Amino acid sequence: MALSSCNNRRMDLPVTELNGVGEKVRTMLARLKIVTIGDLVNHLPRRYDDYSKMTPLKDVQPGPLTAKVVVDSVTARYVRRGLHITEAILSDTSGSVKAVWFNQPYRKKQLASNQEYFVSGTYEFNNRSYSLLNPSLEKVSDFPKNTARIVPVYKETKGLKSHALRKLIAQVNFSELGLDDESYPYEVDLDRTVALRMLHFPNTLAEIDTAREYFAFEELYAIILASALVRQQNEQFTAKPIPFSEQVVKNFVASLPFSLTNDQRRVAWQCLQELEQSKPMNRLIEGDVGSGKTVVAALLALNATEVGNQVAFMVPTEVLANQHYENISKLLPLGKIKIGLYTGSLKKSDKQELTKKISSGEINIVIGTHALMQDKLEFEDLNLVIIDEQHRFGVKQRVALVDKSNTLPHVLTMTATPIPRTLALTIFGDLDISVISEMPPGRIPVQTSIASPNSMQAVYRQIREEVSAGRQAFIIYPLVEDSEALAAKSATEAYTQLSQGPLKDLSLGLLHGRLKPEEKEAVMKKFSEGETQVLVSTTVVEVGVDVPNASIMVIEGAERFGLAQIHQLRGRVGRGLHQSYCILVPTSSQSVPKRLRALETINDGFRLAEYDLELRGPGAIYGSSQHGELNLNFTRLSDPKQIQKAQAAVRDFMQKGEDLLKYPRLAEVVEQYKSITHLN
Ligand code: ADP
Ligand code: MG
Repeated sequence: MALSSCNNRRMDLPVTELNGVGEKVRTMLARLKIVTIGDLVNHLPRRYDDYSKMTPLKDVQPGPLTAKVVVDSVTARYVRRGLHITEAILSDTSGSVKAVWFNQPYRKKQLASNQEYFVSGTYEFNNRSYSLLNPSLEKVSDFPKNTARIVPVYKETKGLKSHALRKLIAQVNFSELGLDDESYPYEVDLDRTVALRMLHFPNTLAEIDTAREYFAFEELYAIILASALVRQQNEQFTAKPIPFSEQVVKNFVASLPFSLTNDQRRVAWQCLQELEQSKPMNRLIEGDVGSGKTVVAALLALNATEVGNQVAFMVPTEVLANQHYENISKLLPLGKIKIGLYTGSLKKSDKQELTKKISSGEINIVIGTHALMQDKLEFEDLNLVIIDEQHRFGVKQRVALVDKSNTLPHVLTMTATPIPRTLALTIFGDLDISVISEMPPGRIPVQTSIASPNSMQAVYRQIREEVSAGRQAFIIYPLVEDSEALAAKSATEAYTQLSQGPLKDLSLGLLHGRLKPEEKEAVMKKFSEGETQVLVSTTVVEVGVDVPNASIMVIEGAERFGLAQIHQLRGRVGRGLHQSYCILVPTSSQSVPKRLRALETINDGFRLAEYDLELRGPGAIYGSSQHGELNLNFTRLSDPKQIQKAQAAVRDFMQKGEDLLKYPRLAEVVEQYKSITHLN
């Protein structure tokens, strides 16, 4: 969420006003979604490099090190094919160290000049001696003077690195931006201009904390206020109760090929009771991947149709809509319940026919993608809306669907994104939450391991072993630079290369976001019917795909994924009775981030989420680039005092019954948060 609104003229000026922004830089900035000066100052550092603590080289210890050095000597050579090593001796007045770079041949030229550098990296034992391994290195003269010694590191793009961004931001005159022109319903002891400048140009580490605390309060205040307002609003609506049809539910449960877990029963019961009220249900079911949320949804849908209510079941992708349609059709009593599948790829005539049946009430349950909302469908009696994998929905879309009913329908959202409780309670203050923490019995936890990109032969061998045992495999390629087109390209190249080379005699399928909906459907169908043995795919398979026979997943470029996302992905295997494997392959064997290691040992989505939260802050769970989602930049959920402080301030505001419109900027931000946290 933007820190500073754009109703201010200076903030609205294009970045091309700044020196050094020609057409080329402008397009690079646009890739980072930076178009105006306002966007630029809101492009906040992801982390900081503390160059303020220089270590004299005579005191060097194993671990992180920053030093100001000159280059004594450089050698560069190919050790063997594919392995290039650059070695340099770096020194300051007190001593010297060896630095080693793998496969970065350009370093030699960079090191050639007779200048001072900041070097920063980890001093560690490697190949029989201590050295700085792949350290970062910058000329001392490259730093804009304003950045002093603590250097912000930004999200970068090809051709535009942090040092260039720092130079641009240094040109902005913060006090002309009008950041302090607006008032707020609470007291603060800092100017926002000062706080923002502290984030970009901190003089000390303490300043970063101070600024973060300032913005965290602002962020939390707006979120909690949005939730409180939504709850207040909802209390004014009524809903039509859905009675509990006991016999129907009992028959359904008895017809299942398995017995429900205790958690599934408890949550279903909780919902059934709540649906009997004339207060609209607004509940979130959180359950780890594979915990069996679909069957709970099917049960509730069936119960609703028994008294003539219609149910809309919304899923984020077409692949998933098809799959839910098939699964739910199998689960529910055939003939009695009419289920429609409504997606963007329906033929026009089919769509018209289905639309008619929905408005006449002939269709009881409609399963569909966001096309359900875009097309302004009329229902005869929509009274239950189920939203699966909620984190993938832009909220504006949900609003459109819910608006179609005359009274407020009951809303149930389901998510496999494990949201730690403190976070959930804060941001979903207007939602009630049920948790399914138990897995269906007999599941064997997925074995996760990290493989070096140099040992792909062994990985392919393992895929073959699984396939010859009758199982199936996924190979996943990451989203590069936020571009599905690039991801599709790398998956397509890999597909071609694998089917001509290492996996030649197996039957391969290719799935990516660039395929037409009917092509995707055909690919998925072949895979779920077992005709395709290995599915090469981008992350389009991430959400909800259920092919229990798949037992191995290889994730390429694993360091590009968030933990939560990998956890989602690996949830696609381990759904059957076989031991399943997830193999993470980082792009380079030199750069295995510590967080990937957590996946080897932690199988529980909630624990992973908490670990991720500690490591990277709440943004990690939500992924900042996904639209319609909450992007918490500053909130430290590990600090309950911060939350309490904001909660108290919001209570104060609500009690006073003040008019939010007195604070236009706050009102604007609250409005955005409202559409994120609420479902109507
Ligand atoms: P998710 O919660 O990730 O949406 P699904 O609803 O897709 O999970 O369920 C995963 C798999 O577990 C499905 O194949 C489903 O049939 C199966 N399943 C669900 N509940 C149970 C249960 N109680 N016992 C055994 N298998 C179950
Ligand atoms: Mg699911």
